[in-house]
Amino acid sequence: MATRKNAAAPPQTHAEPPITGRLGPAEREEAWQRLAAETFDLVVIGGGVVGVGAALDAATRGLRVALVEARDLASGTSSRSSKLFHGGLRYLEQLEFGLVREALRERELMLTRLAPHLVKPVSFLYPLSNRLWERPYTAAGLFLYDTMGGARSVPGQKHLTRAGALRLVPALKRDALIGGIRYYDAQADDARHTMMVGRTAAHYGAVVRTSTQVVGFLREADRVSGVRVRDVEDGREVDVRAHAVINATGVWTDELQRLSGSRGRFRVRASKGVHIVVPRDRIVAESGMILRTEKSVLFVIPWRNHWIVGTTDTDWNLDLAHPAATKHDIDYILEHVNSVLATPLTHDDIEGVYAGLRPLLAGESDSTSKLSREHAVARVAPGLVAIAGGKYTTYRVMGADAVDAAHVDLPGRIQPSITDKVPLVGADGYHALVNQADQLAARHGLHPYRVRHLLDRYGSLVHEVLSLAADNPELLKPIPAAPDYLQVEAVYAASHEGAMHLEDVLTRRTRISIEYAHRGVESAEAVARLIAPVLGWDDDAIKREVEVYNARVDAERASQTKPDDQAADAVRAAAPEARPQLTEPVS
Ligand SMILES: Cc1cc2nc3c(=O)[nH]c(=O)nc-3n(C[C@H](O)[C@H](O)[C@H](O)COP(=O)(O)OP(=O)(O)OC[C@H]3O[C@@H](n4cnc5c(N)ncnc54)[C@H](O)[C@@H]3O)c2cc1C
Repeated sequence: MATRKNAAAPPQTHAEPPITGRLGPAEREEAWQRLAAETFDLVVIGGGVVGVGAALDAATRGLRVALVEARDLASGTSSRSSKLFHGGLRYLEQLEFGLVREALRERELMLTRLAPHLVKPVSFLYPLSNRLWERPYTAAGLFLYDTMGGARSVPGQKHLTRAGALRLVPALKRDALIGGIRYYDAQADDARHTMMVGRTAAHYGAVVRTSTQVVGFLREADRVSGVRVRDVEDGREVDVRAHAVINATGVWTDELQRLSGSRGRFRVRASKGVHIVVPRDRIVAESGMILRTEKSVLFVIPWRNHWIVGTTDTDWNLDLAHPAATKHDIDYILEHVNSVLATPLTHDDIEGVYAGLRPLLAGESDSTSKLSREHAVARVAPGLVAIAGGKYTTYRVMGADAVDAAHVDLPGRIQPSITDKVPLVGADGYHALVNQADQLAARHGLHPYRVRHLLDRYGSLVHEVLSLAADNPELLKPIPAAPDYLQVEAVYAASHEGAMHLEDVLTRRTRISIEYAHRGVESAEAVARLIAPVLGWDDDAIKREVEVYNARVDAERASQTKPDDQAADAVRAAAPEARPQLTEPVS
């Protein structure tokens, strides 16, 4: 039989999930057809970590599931956290042992089985300043932290004298501490992790569609039977039918609840947290730090060639999509970190600033809602489940709880959750590739350091990324004005990772918007030209994307000079949206 070289792959049917859960323009169009044509067991609203976690949980239980996200995956809180998978030392002080144990178990699962390519150990110095009680008190807490949560792949606490602590963090003022304790937690790029959970859900058959906003609920008598969605790129609308709907919209929970027309069982309030990013050489240290503040804690977290420093905790009642950092927020962070640094940080050291909103539970109004592990899940109406609160670290448990709560509305029995055994795409083969990094680097003419960087962002999907450059080695050159990233990464973001706008690539698939003092402006045009062929942009579209991105950066910079939230919000909210047909608020 004659064989044809480079024969086109047979078209995929609905029964065959795309390999590695590719989220590109073709998959997006197919997803629209499926949303219109199929009846799903579950529709999940919200592509933050909780929503994608619920979609993956449902798909791997054998359920037919669709996830719709109004903007981009992780565009809400899930790209704006402190990026720690942690038990939360301060919960120990509140004697929330169950909560800490559960979070530490999740941390371990991520590090070892589910996402070793994305989640990495990170050490923190806890500087001690009180000679009498602080060391035994903190050591007892850290002893629990070290022993809870089962097997442990990170080192336990280590006690340090003042000289030892200063060797670890020479940047500290000598009189800021009398000694210290070093302990470990874990960190990940939250936006990339959320996107990878979404791709894993797609890999297992979930329909995952971004720029798709829920604008109404379908009802059959008193039962929710689906949602009406709008493509916020072109304004098309369609009804999506499902046995049950999960509202996983974080700080938008109440808004969607109102839109559904049913009374909620709990309410969610938003608390703003701001972080700043500074170059690595501004703080001479071999470890991160955790500092006590009057209200909570302040982290100094290593982040590639940078430090992330934060965070604040203040009520926020303004624009949910674009929380704005004020000059006051930034001054607060600088003041606290400078209280221990020998050479203080200044505003001029800041490369990037970001603000996020914690979805905090505001109170329980009905005994049928279940408040546990800091998150709440409730069947708020027949066919409608709401899940909110909690933290990034426990997203997998939250996703499972949401699907469990929806089971009464599903036909037939459902299988138990298995996501503790489902590695994310890119995890399989990752460790072997790390050992082979030198060979991989030689094959592609890259520096091994660069390949290791790629492996920590893509895991074994690195082959897909590099294959895009097979016919165009130019793509293996760095992105102009953002040399930490290769041009091929921008192309792959659009072709495989669901990026649809310049903003998606510069702020979430890469972190150019916070890692470079130009905040992406100097790379914007080049990146737009790289992704234009994938996304079908002409010169006008490229120009518009660059203008919208630059306006966003200008607005953020201006908001960060304002003294208070109202003034900062007014400036930030005036910037144009990349997604033209969004309705804000939707109810
Ligand atoms: C400053 C800060 C630091 C934090 N640090 C940590 C940490 O280090 N570790 C940790 O474990 N946790 C941390 N957290 C908490 C954690 O980030 C959040 O709990 C988590 O990201 C919330 O995810 P979510 O999916 O509930 O919400 P989101 O990520 O906000 O997702 C909700 C999504 O719903 C979408 N949506 C809204 N309306 C609609 C609609 N009509 N149709 C379709 N989609 C819609 C939104 O666009 C959004 O993407 C931190 C939080 C903050 C604010």
